[in-house]
Amino acid sequence: MSKILIIEDEEAIANLEKDYLELSDFEVEIAADGNTGLERALSGNFDLIVLDLMLPGVDGFSICQQIREQRDIPVIIVSARKDDIDKIRGLGMGADDYMTKPFSPSEMVARVKAHLARYDRLVGIKPENDIIEIRGIKIDKTARRVWVNGEEKAFTNKEFDLLTFLAENPNHVFKKEELFQKIWNMESFGDIATVTVHIKKIREKIEFNSSKPQYIETIWGVGYRFKI
Ligand code: CA
Repeated sequence: MSKILIIEDEEAIANLEKDYLELSDFEVEIAADGNTGLERALSGNFDLIVLDLMLPGVDGFSICQQIREQRDIPVIIVSARKDDIDKIRGLGMGADDYMTKPFSPSEMVARVKAHLARYDRLVGIKPENDIIEIRGIKIDKTARRVWVNGEEKAFTNKEFDLLTFLAENPNHVFKKEELFQKIWNMESFGDIATVTVHIKKIREKIEFNSSKPQYIETIWGVGYRFKI
């Protein structure tokens, strides 16, 4: 079931939109001001957003802009003022559709359905993210994000590159010099101690107990390997 977020401060309009969408089997949530709307739009798992422009708190213009920067979901703008819609078009904020109040609720439902269907098609042809999963660790190489037992952890660029390289070549022992050369792209006359420092930082993030690593093992006198 698709989830729709309505960001609308006029209760009667919000409820009317909600009723019509629910009749079409959508799951609907209403946010009655800009701040709640923005927070829900970015954190909730919505498939489409119906956005009023004039709102208490953060206005619809900034909400639209921030959704566009962070989320790939359809946004339908509704506004009582046609010139506001012209303005948002002019600013190139990339809403998917615009409706001027008053509008017919069934027309809105039809547009919601059309946009969801279009997004499904677009998403269908999107290349999949390149993901490595080893036990509790999930590395999204495309988005450069890492989760450990479902919890996202922040990595610096080099930490990410080093972890990914080891995880892509499991059970292979790499010398520190080799890792330094691979990740830092320099000849091994650089400071290979930086490898040790980065391994330590990575372990702090992925290992339950850094002194008894379950993932990146130290092979004494040689280097490291990612164990699977
Ligand atoms: Ca309003």
